[in-house]
Amino acid sequence: MNRDANLAQLASASEPFDLLIVGGGATGLGAAVDAASRGHRVALLERDDFAKGTSSRSTKLVHGGVRYLRQGNISLVLEALRERGRLALNAPHLVHDLAFVIPNYNWWEGPFYGIGMKVYDQLAGKLGLAPSRMLDREETVELLPTVETEGLTGGVIYHDGQFDDARLAVSLALTAVELGAVVVNHCPVVGLIKERSAVCGVLARDAESGRELTVRARCVINATGVFVDELRRQDDPGARPLVAVSQGIHLVLPKRFLPGSAAIMVPKTADGRVLFAVPWHDRVVVGTTDTPLAAASVEPRALDEERDFVLEHARKYLRTDPADADVLSVFAGLRPLVKAGDGADTAALSRDHTIVVGESGLVTITGGKWTTYRKMAEDVIDHAEMVAGVENRRSHTETLQIHGWTRAAIPEANLRPYGADAARIRALMTTDPDLAAPLHPALPCRRAEVVWHAREEMARTVEDVLARRTRALLLDARASIEAAPAVAALLAAELGRDEAWQRTQVAAYTALARGYVFTDPASRGRM
Ligand SMILES: Cc1cc2nc3c(=O)[nH]c(=O)nc-3n(C[C@H](O)[C@H](O)[C@H](O)COP(=O)(O)OP(=O)(O)OC[C@H]3O[C@@H](n4cnc5c(N)ncnc54)[C@H](O)[C@@H]3O)c2cc1C
Repeated sequence: MNRDANLAQLASASEPFDLLIVGGGATGLGAAVDAASRGHRVALLERDDFAKGTSSRSTKLVHGGVRYLRQGNISLVLEALRERGRLALNAPHLVHDLAFVIPNYNWWEGPFYGIGMKVYDQLAGKLGLAPSRMLDREETVELLPTVETEGLTGGVIYHDGQFDDARLAVSLALTAVELGAVVVNHCPVVGLIKERSAVCGVLARDAESGRELTVRARCVINATGVFVDELRRQDDPGARPLVAVSQGIHLVLPKRFLPGSAAIMVPKTADGRVLFAVPWHDRVVVGTTDTPLAAASVEPRALDEERDFVLEHARKYLRTDPADADVLSVFAGLRPLVKAGDGADTAALSRDHTIVVGESGLVTITGGKWTTYRKMAEDVIDHAEMVAGVENRRSHTETLQIHGWTRAAIPEANLRPYGADAARIRALMTTDPDLAAPLHPALPCRRAEVVWHAREEMARTVEDVLARRTRALLLDARASIEAAPAVAALLAAELGRDEAWQRTQVAAYTALARGYVFTDPASRGRM
């Protein structure tokens, strides 16, 4: 995947693209893969980097959504469980089965959640994972050695999927490119082009050179997540807002706080929220919250109330209380929820996706979940084909293997998310043993990965590498700051950048990553 070559293709296109997608998160990348797999000519422009927005800040679950079952949204759960099964088959290198245990502290919780999870199993049908069952107290403690045992009566175990969200996004970008799509990151869309009131392309800016580009297309798809209303208002200044923004935060803790392989799921905290503590890349991710926000921002920050909620609950359900200094990273993400009424209670808003076609032909898609990105893509491309006036073709993504697909066991944990590409990264380390060295003693990544990111995965900045190609920013924000100069040097050698560029990159990354260090005031948000 070569950015310069893709930019040149954009600039030299003599004919309009069939479809142009704005936004390189789960929704836009899924749409690019779907459209390209149908044989359409597709371009995708991402303002920042793939998965820079919500799509790198999820709870990392490929799930039906136990909480939607509780809300009675059976059709959403059914669709998500079907998609969970498909994604596990199409990207086995990125999605795996994870056991979740609901610890019970009241006599009625065992039978109550036991029955609920049986319904969940049934809904998954043929694509189901291992069946759920009730656990006695000893079995619960065996699976969750650090769970709070005071008042514990037993538990319920069920299975769901887990994934690396940003790595899936990069793999989708690679898949789209392999299918013929032209995909460019660091290229914001700054305006819409219209002819006789119909949208027929966009004005974009290459953020590296500052050069403006005009890209024409028969249909433009707005897949900009929490920012969809910005583009909709450019199209129609009177457009009513579609999206309500809801923030969710996570804390990342060292693995010792949840040393087993099972996750904890609390279906209803005292104030009615859902809480997860999930093992991920040898750490524990704890979250989340659901806080309505008045406006979206590119780098959201956890509010005091959210930090307190998650930490207090981690202390409540874990036997050893994590201290502030134990938190390796704090990250916040913004859900693009489809607005209903005044949108005051975002927890009750639908997680279904919505597609809106404006009078100008601008197609907007928002809402949904990472888990259902493939179905969302299929739906939006069905709509976009009609707007573009191109042949209506069948989607092939139900069984399409995602870049890196392999079922081979990969011994090195850090290379597993690369799937089949692991062999080529290993080969880099064999050719140049210096590249086999770790980036940082506290991080599970090797120097060769950075070279790979620059050569094959369109990484352009230190942040692209540390936040999304590796997950260093989330795994240990402080260590990632210390690794930044080494990453800048490796990238500079690959991309032909000078020392001044390296210094600017390190400074920019340090400023950003301080916002993920729990004890740094920069990590605190304001309402
Ligand atoms: C806290 C939290 C936890 C979640 N957990 C889960 C989970 O465990 N499982 C699950 O299935 N789902 C989960 N979700 C939901 C899931 O993460 C989102 O539904 C999904 O990531 C949304 O993807 P998106 O592509 O619509 O938006 P985004 O990922 O935000 O992508 C939009 C992209 O558009 C780009 N963009 C914006 N403006 C422009 C422009 N002018 N030009 C070019 N590009 C532009 C942005 O930079 C961004 O990259 C969670 C969400 C949150 C907030």
